[in-house]
Amino acid sequence: MPFPHPGPTPRQYGSAFQRWLVIGVVALNLVMVTIAVQSLLASRERAIAQAGGNAMNLAALLELSVADSARRIDLGLLSIVDVLESLGSERVLSDEAIERVLQQHLARHPAVDAFRVSNRDGLLLWGKGVDRQAPVSVADRAFFPEHQAAPGQRLIVGEPVLGRVSKMWVVAFTRSYRLADGSFGGVVTAAVTLDHFTQLLRPLLLGEHGFAAIHHQERVLLTRYPALAGAAGEPGSHDLPAEFVAMLDTRVDSASFQSTHPDQRQRFYAYRRIQHTPFVLSVAIAPEDYLSDWHREIRHTLFLLLVFFGATVFAAWMLRRYWWQISNQTLFLDTLIDNLPLPFFYKDVEGRYQGCNRAFERLLGKPRSEIVGKSVFDMAPTAIANRYHEKDAELFARPGTQTYDWVTSGGDGVRHVIFHKATFLDADGSVAGILGGITDVTEFKRIQEELQTHRDNLEALVAERTEQLAQAKEAAEAASQAKSAFLANMSHELRTPMSGVMGMIDLVWCKTADARAREQLAKAKQSSRHLLELINDILDISKIEAQRMTLEKTAFRLADVLDNLHVLVAHRAEEKGLALQLAPLPEPARAVLLGDPLRLGQVLINLVGNAVKFTESGSVTVDVAVSEETPEQLTLRCTVADTGIGIQAEDLGRVFSAFEQADSSMSRRYGGTGLGLAISKRLVELMGGEIGVDSEPGRGSRFWFSVRLDKADAAGELAANPQETAETRLLREFSGARVLLVEDEPINSEVSCCLLEDVGLVVDLAVDGAEAVAMARANRYALILMDMQMPNLNGVDATRAIRADSLNGDTPILAMTANAYEEDRQACFAAGMNEHIGKPINPDLLFACLLRWLGRRVTG
Ligand code: ADP
Repeated sequence: MPFPHPGPTPRQYGSAFQRWLVIGVVALNLVMVTIAVQSLLASRERAIAQAGGNAMNLAALLELSVADSARRIDLGLLSIVDVLESLGSERVLSDEAIERVLQQHLARHPAVDAFRVSNRDGLLLWGKGVDRQAPVSVADRAFFPEHQAAPGQRLIVGEPVLGRVSKMWVVAFTRSYRLADGSFGGVVTAAVTLDHFTQLLRPLLLGEHGFAAIHHQERVLLTRYPALAGAAGEPGSHDLPAEFVAMLDTRVDSASFQSTHPDQRQRFYAYRRIQHTPFVLSVAIAPEDYLSDWHREIRHTLFLLLVFFGATVFAAWMLRRYWWQISNQTLFLDTLIDNLPLPFFYKDVEGRYQGCNRAFERLLGKPRSEIVGKSVFDMAPTAIANRYHEKDAELFARPGTQTYDWVTSGGDGVRHVIFHKATFLDADGSVAGILGGITDVTEFKRIQEELQTHRDNLEALVAERTEQLAQAKEAAEAASQAKSAFLANMSHELRTPMSGVMGMIDLVWCKTADARAREQLAKAKQSSRHLLELINDILDISKIEAQRMTLEKTAFRLADVLDNLHVLVAHRAEEKGLALQLAPLPEPARAVLLGDPLRLGQVLINLVGNAVKFTESGSVTVDVAVSEETPEQLTLRCTVADTGIGIQAEDLGRVFSAFEQADSSMSRRYGGTGLGLAISKRLVELMGGEIGVDSEPGRGSRFWFSVRLDKADAAGELAANPQETAETRLLREFSGARVLLVEDEPINSEVSCCLLEDVGLVVDLAVDGAEAVAMARANRYALILMDMQMPNLNGVDATRAIRADSLNGDTPILAMTANAYEEDRQACFAAGMNEHIGKPINPDLLFACLLRWLGRRVTG
């Protein structure tokens, strides 16, 4: 049962996290902005307070400076007054003396542009720039009447005026002097240029927009530094800020105020009266200047805020990216776990499920919301929960992995499962919980059980089949044995009458002197041989199929083989009007060779026979060439060419297969079994050669084969005296020797006796094995010829008995049998026989064999 996924989707995860990230960044930046604003405000307050203090301090310092300067000027005036009054009392007050005093004082007081002295009428008679002829009067100046009223009392400083003598803006410091009688004598003035006061203001550093000014208490401007362009900046100007005027009216010594006068720029003013003078000092500083540091601080703070904002945005972006990666991984893992086909869960150290996948939900039959946060005790009966808990406790006690089999019952019924659990660690390396995977092996178990059942059944089935196969094998073996026995019997049964026929022909041939009859007998014998060979073909192919074909190795002449071939096929070629041409043998091929002449002849007869058979006109040519020669061996290449019907190219490949004919319609026309070439191919291969054909349909065929044959050495019987036949040698060397012939078949025994006696041997005949053994025990023989299949005792057992106990333990025993199989030969040799002569008996081969063994003794 699928349960809805309870968690938020990836998009929900993302937007919630991003919202909180934005809120975090904004809040953090708001806090920083608030702190920065508060700090800047406090800093501004401090800057303003500091600027106010500075202005006031500067004003105080400036006051001291101006007051000091005024006091010095006053001291100069007092000194001049003193001189004038003392000279006056001594009545020596001359013009020169006064002028001298004034010059001396002028030299001592650089701040003073000119000292001048008036008479009691106010006419300036002495001092710098005075024209005594046309004296200037100061009687109209405000200070004059005041001094007249109270002579010698006090310093009076006038408002700035344009000097009548100097034509410069000056401030007049004045004192009166008295005459000797104590009456008012006149006024001493010190004209101080406004530039002097300007110089006093100059050292102050008040910023680009600040200035310092000295006013007369009568609201007249003395000087301002830096100077202000326009009428308001001119000395004598009455253009004052209202706040300043208000301050003057309050008569306080010092104060401060703000004003935008005179250029609409906001400034802070420190106001101070200069003691003992009618001057008022003001120091004005502009916010642009005293807040410039603060403005720089604002810029720095803004920059830092921007950096902070950038850093927090970058950090948030990185965090978001990192979070995105982590959440991607988490989501991937969630999806992976969720889609695992195996149930999967994880718990904390308290055993509470922290998560699971869908397969686990299915296994428990509960949705995730009913699993997460719960322990097994909330979901299973206490007894079962306790078992789960014990397993978890084991794992916690030995952190690592744990695997065990379990049986659960949930939504899907009873399940066989395997738990794979492992502890997992948190970041500080302590065990944080358990991961668990569950492999459901219910199906596997079911299949295993089914398989076991199948296996049990299969074993029974296999046992049954094995039994049947064993029986079938036994039956097949029995059949094979029966076939072999049948073939052996057939071979015997067919060969035996053939032996009789051919033996009789030999017999008649031996006894007749008529040349024509002999020739006819010879043909009859050749035909019989051919018939026998046809029978042999069938037997040969069965031997080939059974891989039991073996070859003789006897001395022979190739010329004899070719003569025999000629005898066999010449009359057939003649009948068809074909020219049978046997090319003369090359010299090496005339030597006596070792091999199986019968089988070699069989191949040649087959090829030439076919050539004659499939050729209607023309010729059949047999050619023998020596393709290779070593001291020991010759390789012959025999070619049989005809001018017959030829073979289609597509049939060339299969003519050497057993029972194959190039064109099966031919078999009706030409006869044949399709065995000849298959037997030839196998025989050629056994003789170490190969066979092949080139053919052109309608033009003829050219069959060829190669064979490798050993050369017979000098001891070879045939090689010894090629002119003398075995027959002649037997007559000459062994005439009168006594041999035992063991043969049960009367015709065969008659034929054999005749042949043996013809070469001068004395023959004793035994009709079965038992009689042979008895005769061998009674007589000693030069040689024993032993048939194989006989009543009473067969040839093999008779030989064993003779070898074991007789007078002929070392007499050569030659088998004479139609049993042509290799195992028959082996059985002969095993029983103690020395040679194996096949039936029907070839007289030449028989005589060669007799010659080889007569006169020899063998070791038993
Ligand atoms: P058989 O001659 O008894 O049929 P072989 O094995 O000797 O069997 O020959 C197989 C087949 O090869 C023949 O049936 C014939 O079709 C073909 N063949 C053999 N020799 C010749 C030849 N000289 N010319 C044409 N066809 C040939």
